[in-house]
Amino acid sequence: MRNCCVRVAQLDRASDYGSEGRGFESFHARIIRPEIILRLIYIKRSQGRLNIWLPKHPVSLVDNDMDEEVQKESQIFGYQKGCIKIMDRKIIDQITDIVGADYIKEGEPLCNHSTIKIGGMAKIFAEVTDEDKLLKLLTYLRQNNIAHMVIGNASNLLFDDEGYDGVIICTDVKDEKISEVLFFDTKSTSQEELDSLRINADINILRQEYDQIMIVGCGARLSSMVNAAKQRALGNLEFASGIPGTVGGAVAMNAGAYGNEIKDFIIGAFVIDKANNYLYKNTDELNLSYRNSAVQKEGLVCAKAVFGLNLKPEEEINNKIKELNQKRRDKQPLDYPSCGSAFKRPEGAFAAQLIDEAGLKGFKVGDMQISEKHAGFMINIGNGNSKDAKELLKQVQEKVYENCGINLEPEIKIIDTH
Ligand SMILES: Cc1cc2nc3c(=O)[nH]c(=O)nc-3n(C[C@H](O)[C@H](O)[C@H](O)COP(=O)(O)OP(=O)(O)OC[C@H]3O[C@@H](n4cnc5c(N)ncnc54)[C@H](O)[C@@H]3O)c2cc1C
Repeated sequence: MRNCCVRVAQLDRASDYGSEGRGFESFHARIIRPEIILRLIYIKRSQGRLNIWLPKHPVSLVDNDMDEEVQKESQIFGYQKGCIKIMDRKIIDQITDIVGADYIKEGEPLCNHSTIKIGGMAKIFAEVTDEDKLLKLLTYLRQNNIAHMVIGNASNLLFDDEGYDGVIICTDVKDEKISEVLFFDTKSTSQEELDSLRINADINILRQEYDQIMIVGCGARLSSMVNAAKQRALGNLEFASGIPGTVGGAVAMNAGAYGNEIKDFIIGAFVIDKANNYLYKNTDELNLSYRNSAVQKEGLVCAKAVFGLNLKPEEEINNKIKELNQKRRDKQPLDYPSCGSAFKRPEGAFAAQLIDEAGLKGFKVGDMQISEKHAGFMINIGNGNSKDAKELLKQVQEKVYENCGINLEPEIKIIDTH
């Protein structure tokens, strides 16, 4: 048995797992029998490291070059508990090479990233700062068959309490190329320039409809994109200013509010397809429909989007944004963590109204509740978890169906552990 640094924490929830060093006791010890170290979550050795997390929040990163004895011990522990997986150190190093050491975290609690504040740890959480890194990382993970998922602000995602056994690729990175917003005047932009930007469109047609085109990185928040346009007295996307997502997430979801949706002003998008080709798709090819798109259906990743904007007095744009944001504050439970509307709007009806009519306002499972303020929202009123959230969604579906015969379909995306 080797000496190693053992870090022990008395933690029960993934959300209690702070950054390294917080709430941990560290001491040197010998590796002891795995069944004795139930609450041991982190072991660090000079040549590498072995993480063992609490059984409820499993993931383990085990060095490839770790001596056989330690590997055997850790594997026995893992297999006994049935929850610890092994990730080759080389994979982590490769991902680090692609995204940079400052942009990768091992064992990152997803509850710290999701707007509903739910989710165990992601084995790897990698932020991408430009579309080249996004493409390289996707290519690497796909070629090596490593589970992964692209997220924006995770404002429409219900992660699992058990976390994500793979790589979460996060594009929500401020002040980097991935969230850059660029403007081009349609009058002064030539067809050649448009072609060199690889935007497959006729400039004369764009000129008829729009004063400017805006190219936005997938990681830009909708609010900052709308703000950047407002500062140039360019409107059209005011409806999106209060939606707390990124451009990539909004294109994937065809996000919409107050009578408009992304589909209304998008000209096209640069995407990475499943075979890792970088392509331009025009509006028709993006096939945007109510909370759906080719991005979702065809498993594309949106790298950046192109929108058409029109000149408007800045005050008019400002007033519109203020008015819509006030409406949100008046109607929506914005002081609680949520994912916005829990269910899609069924044909000819409103989910919130159907939930209200089924007597479910305030209905709770554990700390997950149907908001009293807006029955369309499922809110986290304390220590809500994914198990209770799923149970709440299921019970609401059943009760609404019993009451009016309509099947509600979740708008929230429920994410499996891998
Ligand atoms: C308080 C609140 C209010 C909301 N109001 C609205 C509203 O008015 N209208 C509305 O439509 N939604 C609303 N939402 C839901 C949510 O904000 C939107 O669905 C938003 O578009 C999600 O963007 P995101 O960046 O958070 O995506 P995420 O939640 O991170 O991801 C959503 C989906 O998009 C995919 N995705 C993310 N980025 C990319 C990418 N670059 N390429 C390909 N796929 C990607 C993910 O894989 C996932 O399938 C609200 C949410 C909250 C919390």
